[in-house]
Amino acid sequence: MNKIIPLLDLKKEYRPLKDKILKRVEKIFDEMRLYLGENVQQFEREFAEYCGVNYAVGVGSGTEAIHLALYAASVKPGDEVITVSHTFIATVSPIVLVGAKPVFVDIDLQTYLMDTSQIESKISDKTKAILPVHLYGQACDMDEILSIAKKYNLKVIEDCAQSHGAKYKNKNTGTFGDLSAFSFVFTKNLKAYGDAGIVITNNKNMYEYLKQFRDIGRASKYEHSIWGLNCRLDEVQAAILRVKLPYIDEWTNKRRENAKYYTEKLKGIPLVTPLEKANNKHVYHQYVIKTESRDKIQKYLKEKGIETGIHYPIPVHLQNAARNLGYHSGDLPVTEEVSKKILSIPVYPELEINEKEYIVETIRRFFRR
Ligand SMILES: *Cc1c(COP(=O)(O)O)cnc(C)c1O
Repeated sequence: MNKIIPLLDLKKEYRPLKDKILKRVEKIFDEMRLYLGENVQQFEREFAEYCGVNYAVGVGSGTEAIHLALYAASVKPGDEVITVSHTFIATVSPIVLVGAKPVFVDIDLQTYLMDTSQIESKISDKTKAILPVHLYGQACDMDEILSIAKKYNLKVIEDCAQSHGAKYKNKNTGTFGDLSAFSFVFTKNLKAYGDAGIVITNNKNMYEYLKQFRDIGRASKYEHSIWGLNCRLDEVQAAILRVKLPYIDEWTNKRRENAKYYTEKLKGIPLVTPLEKANNKHVYHQYVIKTESRDKIQKYLKEKGIETGIHYPIPVHLQNAARNLGYHSGDLPVTEEVSKKILSIPVYPELEINEKEYIVETIRRFFRR
């Protein structure tokens, strides 16, 4: 194969939807209704219904969604929020920015998700919330997290940036916590063509608060009842998301088919394929293999035209930004070990069978050398 297989192919997703998307966007431009218009309002309703919650508030990005969820949960300076270091830094940055302290628990070596058995030992009288991340598209152990949260009266905020449509025991991720944050940046399973995000909740007070907060505290055009920021979901991005939402389950099924293919075909070679937990619907935002020879295999695949990614090579607690949090190398051994061995291979829905075969064959050839 002499073409390049990218980690994600946006053009392939766009082509069949092009006419529909451009028609919706053209209508917005013809009417020039650009401020929290029909598309934002409808998308909020449609996405809330898709997840199975009462309310959704569209915002500008997944990072903003987490930031706003923390405000709505009244996380204040000096509070502590329990989360993971094995995640995209946007999970953690908003915790620091509201003045709270992120307290990291390590991850499970098999699922790469929050090791819930470590949560209780990290709870102090300052702990305000638990912020689990459904990383790669697989749900955390929500029964365990909810029972700890109840016992200690903590808020739960789910980071669903990678888990659109993923289920835990037949319920969508995002429906367990007090608030949940999704991203629709153009690399996620549901993609805008730019930045977009949403907060979902069943709590009416939090919903009303967030609707005002994301619109600089606006109660009406010239009346502002709270301090807020401008984090509005863009009308054009909302229109694009409305075209795509009906396809999300079909795309997820294709991701799952691709994952199943890899897991079967990669048996018997010295690498670890993803563990899919029982009673869960994994949506494979990433298909992550683990191997001692990660850097070598990544280089080899690149030479053979296969793009891969590492999610993520530097744990949050070891980032320069995190220096003042007081963590050191060795504090989160599983997180640190995993970050050196993981590799994400292409799993996007439009991947073709000959491409999958080529990827599997190339990985097998690497280990035969
Ligand atoms: C992408 C992502 C975010 C942030 O979303 P943006 O839309 O890029 O701001 C947060 N958390 C996780 C786990 C993510 O993957």
